[in-house]
Amino acid sequence: MIKVGVFGASGRVGKLLIEDLKSTEDMSLSTVFVRNSLDFAIDPSVLVTSDMHSFINAADIIIDFSLPEACEMLLEEAIKNPKPLVIGTTGLNNHQLNLLKQASELMPVLYATNMSLGVALLNKLVYQASAALKDFDIEIVEMHHRHKKDAPSGTALTLSESAAAGRNLDINKVRVSGRDGNIGERTKDEIAVMALRGGDIVGRHTVGFYNDGEFIELNHTATSRNTFSKGAIRAAKWLSTQENGLYSIADCLEF
Ligand code: NAD
Repeated sequence: MIKVGVFGASGRVGKLLIEDLKSTEDMSLSTVFVRNSLDFAIDPSVLVTSDMHSFINAADIIIDFSLPEACEMLLEEAIKNPKPLVIGTTGLNNHQLNLLKQASELMPVLYATNMSLGVALLNKLVYQASAALKDFDIEIVEMHHRHKKDAPSGTALTLSESAAAGRNLDINKVRVSGRDGNIGERTKDEIAVMALRGGDIVGRHTVGFYNDGEFIELNHTATSRNTFSKGAIRAAKWLSTQENGLYSIADCLEF
């Protein structure tokens, strides 16, 4: 039985992880990290702790869906006390991404801005379409619920990286994050990534390829957050048998 620790347990995805683990074969929830107390009941066998050391020690593998600063704290601790990590938190800055790489030299780490099967495939399709449709303008739109804190979404940024990679472009040089005012015509290589927020939208991503006379739009819509919690559990099962290193969701799905 693989003992799982959930970091970000009281969050929207964290709560689903706790529920989904109950019906997962060969895995059980052993501990959750909390800042204060939990506002819901949990099996008494689960260690509920705000002590990071005890939390890490009580788990064989940790799944994180928290916030960047919390994820940073987890990575710093894990570097001192290595455990396989599945990281789903988005909006990590360069320092936090470097910590992630550092951690992956000491333990297996899977980092995915989207744990769903559909988005993993979408990234492949976007790469192919970008390479095949060289003259088409690429624009990305994402929509999420009103509570989402980071923008654009980690998924949209990963999709923009896939689009840029299909044309050998550096996404940091071609990404446009907003248009306002008399900004002039669109340049050929730019890839806009625009974020809309409202209501309870779980996640919707559209990658459009636009040319004169035709366009293609590839769209993915998440209708339930369980797609992320179940995807993270599948990733954790896979990661538990891997060597130290930094893995993506595509590695886990063997795409
Ligand atoms: P949420 O705001 O509902 O939950 C955040 C959790 O982090 C809460 O449990 C909160 O208590 C905890 N937290 C915040 N600050 C903390 C700190 N300093 N120390 C310890 N814990 C802390 O958010 P959510 O909707 O569950 O999303 C969590 C993260 O996962 C976000 O970054 C979101 O973008 C990302 N996300 C990723 C995927 C994916 O597939 N990779 C899918 C959905 C959401």
